[in-house]
Amino acid sequence: MNFHVLTLFPEMIENGMNTSITGRAIAKGLLSLEAINIRDFAFNKHNKVDDYPYGGGAGMLMQAEPVYLAYESIEKRVGRKPRVVYLTPQGQVFNQKMAREMAQEEDLVFLCGHYEGIDERVLEEIVTDYVSIGDYVLTGGELPAMVMMDSISRMVPGVLNNEESGETESFAGNLLEHPQYSRPEEWHGKKVPEVLLSGHHANIEKWRREQSIYRTAQRRPDLLKNSDLTNKEWNYVRQLRKQWKEEGLENK
Ligand code: SAM
Repeated sequence: MNFHVLTLFPEMIENGMNTSITGRAIAKGLLSLEAINIRDFAFNKHNKVDDYPYGGGAGMLMQAEPVYLAYESIEKRVGRKPRVVYLTPQGQVFNQKMAREMAQEEDLVFLCGHYEGIDERVLEEIVTDYVSIGDYVLTGGELPAMVMMDSISRMVPGVLNNEESGETESFAGNLLEHPQYSRPEEWHGKKVPEVLLSGHHANIEKWRREQSIYRTAQRRPDLLKNSDLTNKEWNYVRQLRKQWKEEGLENK
């Protein structure tokens, strides 16, 4: 997987990504990362890449030409039109399914806006995907790009030490992950659930699945409709909902 990031703050991307698991994957050559400074493609002697928006209004806008030239430098090297993600609060909200799907690409370009955003005309020419990381507004697209790259990286074979953990954690099958415990067996008077100490793998799996369903029903009931629950498991959810209603915990 080759990540190409178009940004005014390349050091932010490099510092963030060359750390921990993604840093190790870059060092191993499982991922490559280039942060391209859009300012290097400015066409004036002050390296200015922003200007006032036509029609007035607050703030500055990143101009089309430097963004286009920076993009074109990638297109020339890659030898074809790559997929270009513009990070924007106006995009489709990022999720695990998109991470999995984008991890299949060989090259991904992330375009980070700043100030009030980017001249619409260059977006129309180069962007293939408009993606938001949530319904709030940030100062720039760098953190959203890093959020996406981090989560996409985890889906690239070999990036995680234990391949399994990418498949069994939250959002696999549209369920949240079950609670987890490590040593010691008792902490602050709280004991690790007995079944996890039993060594009985079938019972442990059954408990984990049930906990996943319980937790999803409690915290993210919206996910359940696209989950892979069996009829028996749906009955369990109905029973939980009835119980919570009776206890007045419906919106817990
Ligand atoms: N004026 C823009 C609007 O109302 O849609 C917001 C511009 S924002 C201050 C500056 C840049 O931050 C955007 O161009 C985008 O790249 C990035 N950004 C801000 N919030 C984001 C979010 N929730 N998801 C993804 N990118 C975001």
